[in-house]
Amino acid sequence: MHTLLKNARAFKHRAAARADEFGRLSDGQSPQALFITCSDSRVIPSLITGARPGELFELRTAGSIIPEHSPDRHSSEAATVEYAVEVLNVADIVVCGHSHCGAVGAMVRREDLSSVPAVRGWLESASPPPLVTSPSSPAIAEAVQHHVVRQLERLRNYPCVARRAAEGRLSLHGWFYEIDTGAVLARQPHDDAFLPL
Ligand code: ZN
Repeated sequence: MHTLLKNARAFKHRAAARADEFGRLSDGQSPQALFITCSDSRVIPSLITGARPGELFELRTAGSIIPEHSPDRHSSEAATVEYAVEVLNVADIVVCGHSHCGAVGAMVRREDLSSVPAVRGWLESASPPPLVTSPSSPAIAEAVQHHVVRQLERLRNYPCVARRAAEGRLSLHGWFYEIDTGAVLARQPHDDAFLPL
């Protein structure tokens, strides 16, 4: 934590060197996209995309899971999606899964999660577990990509997303990020294949 504190204390000096850019942030935000990904510390959306402050609205959840839309349940995830679409008018939403994902791996390997009941309950909300033919692969690429496709399907069931997409004002993208190489693969529009961007 010491290094993190040291950097946080010094950050205002780095921001001061870009005073014009940071000063404009007080006028509001107009991000290019909503980026939904895992809470995993190895996945840094702004590092991957080169986004500057104000350019990317983020939603991070354990395992990149998007809850099923429910008109009676007002989750943080649903609020974030709704705000991005209805208020910030983002034109694109990226759902980005990643290799070596602990959450997806736990689902695939059906790990005993009795000691972490909140995690277990959250992952069960993503059931059924992702399809996989090679659960022994540490990268579990196939499972994560299948999982991303399922989260995109859930996202399309959010009324605001469905309406904007039908109007041609919103595009959804499925990405897969390899944490050990930095490669980004994108789901192809007409099938579930993931190919390099
Ligand atoms: Zn993950």
